[in-house]
Amino acid sequence: MRMTRYFVPVLKETPAEAQIASHRLMLRSGMVRQAAAGIYSWMPLGYRVLKRIEDIVNQEQIRAGHIPLLMPTLQSAALWRESGRYEDYGEEMLRICDRHGRDLLYGPTNEELITDIFRSHVNSYRDLPLTLYHVQWKFRDEIRPRYGVMRGREFLMKDGYNFDVDKASAIHSYNRHMVSYLRTYERMGLKAIPMRADTGPIGGDHSHEFLVLADTGESEVFFDDSILELSLGDRNIDYDCVQTCSAIMEEWTAPYSRTDETHDEALYRASVPEGRRRQSRAIEVGQIFYFGTKYSEPMGATVSDRDGRRVHVHMGSHGIGVSRLVGAIIEASHDEKGIVWPEPVTPFPVGILNLSQRDSNAEAVCQMIYGELVKKGLEPLYDDRDERAGAKFATMDLIGLPWRITVGSRSLAKGVVELSRRSDGESENIVPEHAAERIAEIYAAHF
Ligand code: ATP
Ligand code: MG
Repeated sequence: MRMTRYFVPVLKETPAEAQIASHRLMLRSGMVRQAAAGIYSWMPLGYRVLKRIEDIVNQEQIRAGHIPLLMPTLQSAALWRESGRYEDYGEEMLRICDRHGRDLLYGPTNEELITDIFRSHVNSYRDLPLTLYHVQWKFRDEIRPRYGVMRGREFLMKDGYNFDVDKASAIHSYNRHMVSYLRTYERMGLKAIPMRADTGPIGGDHSHEFLVLADTGESEVFFDDSILELSLGDRNIDYDCVQTCSAIMEEWTAPYSRTDETHDEALYRASVPEGRRRQSRAIEVGQIFYFGTKYSEPMGATVSDRDGRRVHVHMGSHGIGVSRLVGAIIEASHDEKGIVWPEPVTPFPVGILNLSQRDSNAEAVCQMIYGELVKKGLEPLYDDRDERAGAKFATMDLIGLPWRITVGSRSLAKGVVELSRRSDGESENIVPEHAAERIAEIYAAHF
């Protein structure tokens, strides 16, 4: 993409309403624009990141055997009356009345709707286990939307729902989700720690939240330092294997880690040596629940079991804050000059910066590198504006692409261009013909 043909409405001034780095940087780099309180338009650059995150989420869900579908944003109030949540959910639910006087709502979550789909079509234990999910906009009329996309009113969530014939099988689904979530966050270059959590309005008796450490996070967390050393790496995981998933679940939940809602100071002190106790602020980027028959009983979702008896199906639900993740990743990865995208979620893999826009040789070299990168499936962002070098560097740093190729008359006279890394400014001179190949090697692991 050539900058002169693109649309990146960068702001010069720091917007006064933004209190935290991610919100500030997303507005300044033209990633989002507020449409109403807690409701955002995703501008081209922000939309690319949102899509990257959504892609990773989808890939990991499908890898775990979960099935994508798409449910609507608007739901009938009748279903929520069946479960008893229409009244219970409170003022966070946006209630709408259509022209015929029928009550609708903009879904804050989808347990009722998916249970209705399930009960209409599934009858036997032979069709189980089943996990359906979608990535869809939610609306929660948050009393205090703030921090940009981190606490919006309209936000994008991946929400999934498992259906199992009994508790044992549902617990495997729970563990499988735990593992697939760990892998999802790891692939985004994030450290997200599972913590035992309260179940809130979703209900049930098993729940973990996934938290990213950040000073600006809204949760207070307590954990054993040793949990930070755990990683799945490139382990080959059989998601159908009960043993594999429960072993990983145990590995990650053995060290103490809880949010303030479930924190137990006495247990914390007894189970974590003093030198490993950590307390921090953190951002919730996902949560998983097992809630048994909480929805299947009032809504009559049953299947026949192996012995021909009708049993209420066991369920759980699982959410990833897709749009919140864009902010959370920035909170975890930025510096005083701007965003520092981790390679897996960057809007463009590399930026090309032309310091000598009016030099036809420099333009030709940029075009050559651009073409080679496109051929390799790595579309760069080429800053071809007729701007001062300082302004181009500042924009590139603000946008935060992980790699930059700088082309200018002076270095071309020596036969080289500069390749530099955003995270630490480390740079080296390379011949232009090798630039695309180098970038391809770097990204081979991610795309
Ligand atoms: P919170 O405690 O932050 O209000 P929640 O526990 O009510 O969130 P869940 O029902 O667990 O949210 O939803 C799943 C995920 O959706 C959360 O882990 C979070 O990442 C994301 N999410 C929830 N509310 C919002 C919001 N208002 N804006 C953006 N993302 C959100
Ligand atoms: Mg939650």
